[in-house]
Amino acid sequence: MEKIKLYLQNKTFLKYFLYSIYIIITIGLLFAFLGHPSIRSFFGIIENKTFDIRQSVLASYKKSDKDIVILSVDDESYEYFLDKYGEWPISRSIYADIITYLEKQNPAVVAFDLMFVKSLKSSDDADNKLAKNIARYDNVFTSINFDNQSFALRKPVDLPAALKANVVNESDINLKNSYFTFSNCRAIINQILTTTPNIGHINLLRDEDGIARFLPPFVVYKDSFYPHLALKVALKYLEKTENLKLNEFKINKDGEMLLGKRKIPLTYDATAVLNWYGPSGINSHNTFEYIPLWKIEKSIYDGAKLLPDNYFKDKIIYIGTSATSLFDLKSVPTDRIFPGVEIHTTFINNILDNNFIKRVPPIFDILTSLLLSLFVGLIVIRSESTVISSLVAILTAIIYIIFSTALMLYFNLWTGIVLELTSILLVFIACYLAKYILKSRDLEYTYALATTDGLTELYNHRYFQEHMQQGVETGKRYDRPFSLIMIDIDFFKKFNDTYGHQSGDAVLRQVAQILKKNVRSSDIVCRYGGEEMSIILTNTDNESAIFTAEKICKAVSEHPLKLVNGNDVQVTISLGVATYPQDGQTPQELIKYADDCLYIAKENGRNQVGKKPKD
Ligand code: GH3
Ligand code: MG
Ligand code: MG
Repeated sequence: MEKIKLYLQNKTFLKYFLYSIYIIITIGLLFAFLGHPSIRSFFGIIENKTFDIRQSVLASYKKSDKDIVILSVDDESYEYFLDKYGEWPISRSIYADIITYLEKQNPAVVAFDLMFVKSLKSSDDADNKLAKNIARYDNVFTSINFDNQSFALRKPVDLPAALKANVVNESDINLKNSYFTFSNCRAIINQILTTTPNIGHINLLRDEDGIARFLPPFVVYKDSFYPHLALKVALKYLEKTENLKLNEFKINKDGEMLLGKRKIPLTYDATAVLNWYGPSGINSHNTFEYIPLWKIEKSIYDGAKLLPDNYFKDKIIYIGTSATSLFDLKSVPTDRIFPGVEIHTTFINNILDNNFIKRVPPIFDILTSLLLSLFVGLIVIRSESTVISSLVAILTAIIYIIFSTALMLYFNLWTGIVLELTSILLVFIACYLAKYILKSRDLEYTYALATTDGLTELYNHRYFQEHMQQGVETGKRYDRPFSLIMIDIDFFKKFNDTYGHQSGDAVLRQVAQILKKNVRSSDIVCRYGGEEMSIILTNTDNESAIFTAEKICKAVSEHPLKLVNGNDVQVTISLGVATYPQDGQTPQELIKYADDCLYIAKENGRNQVGKKPKD
């Protein structure tokens, strides 16, 4: 034990070995802690927030595609239509006319993020007119929505086979995730449903905190896959230049949906992580261009010239609502008021730019957390300065944040931040504490070394002298007695001569143990020097001290002691007692008195407690 202690004192190598084990245990505990489901979900929420911050910072470096235009029923248009027609929604005949108007300019795609469901206001004439116009142009798309409404309210419909997607999945992603498996469908009017295959779903997803970050490219209904409207629109747009099949999808082993050369990396929940272009175009000019729908209506019916000629040529026109009173507003990482239609166009733009965000696999976060926290842990342990080690920890964290933001900007990678920073912080604290504890243990050990006798492990002479001084001082202040016993082994020179010095040393150690066993733990047993020992008995008067001395004398004489060769042997001791204040006022006087008594014991035949004759 003593040897190990010394090793630890002297060999820095061993010290670092112990530190490393400590760091590994700390990190192990950390991961066990973070692996708990509720803690993981808590960290997941914070991780999402760090994603939002990164996206908000990076959005200004990303430009959206100029070919995407949103025709929107904004607040102005909503008011205009209410004013002019006295109702919302407006007649489907107007939408039919809008299609005709737009198609004259040869747009790439026209998509309605609006659902034409049966309602009291449906008029067969208008519905037929719209359905005919949608079917006439193969670049016009409209939407359908899935939900889990009870069957009593709405009977699940059978959807035409033309709407279904064929998905080949080579990954371990579960596409039939419960998020996107629906039992019911808000079917659109039959005239449209049965005459065009250009219908996509418009289900969006929000996280627990209400923010939409992920988009499901497919939903599952009656065991079939239905692609998102935006996915269909993007493919239609790319169809001319890239050889793509609109209803055939493949997900490779790496969980990426392949669209020709393009890839959509999917999460384990089968969603695409959107890469945002900034706050909604309603509020800023950075993102998608908005044109209020009333301008189109006025151009059609009043012949007003509000837009340049052929403004919509080759464009993707997405028609939806953004009016606050129509409630299709969501929160997204970069904005709190984000119309659903713009989430769709963001998805389309991500496909065109092939810049979806890929969430790195958990192993990446685990490894970086390990590396970073190991680095910080070692710096804390090696560095002498708290300021430097704190600075290094903070700098490591900042550099990692910048690094992960750069990875998102240049490589579209979403690397974790929360796990990494938590690991750095916890390992920093743990190593700091470990260092502090080991340092204080070092001090303790040095102190023990300075006050202990190496052979007997009793207190040494210096400690004895200090405590004698202290005993006298407290005795004086509180008017309390204390006693001192001086002990000398009998005929020890002869013992050494007979059995050798090694056995002499062994006997010294054994006598020391007997002394310790026979006094209170508050008493101080010291090696005075040579084969002489002394005991300071705190708060003890002369009578009790003599009683203790007699007891010790008897104990030593009766206790068989072991020689180095294993044989038993017996020794005796002589003792002298002095008590403060009656036998002396200073340590010197007391030691002298006890020594005198000891001498008397030797004179009287040894193996006894010597006493001065009372005057
Ligand atoms: P007495 O009964 O009068 O005390 O006889 P003694 O032989 O014990 O005489 P004294 O106390 O003067 O002798 C001290 C001897 O103790 C001298 C030395 O041989 C032995 N001694 C002192 N320190 C040590 C030690 O650390 N180890 C061993 N083995 N012997 C020691
Ligand atoms: Mg002696
Ligand atoms: Mg002696």
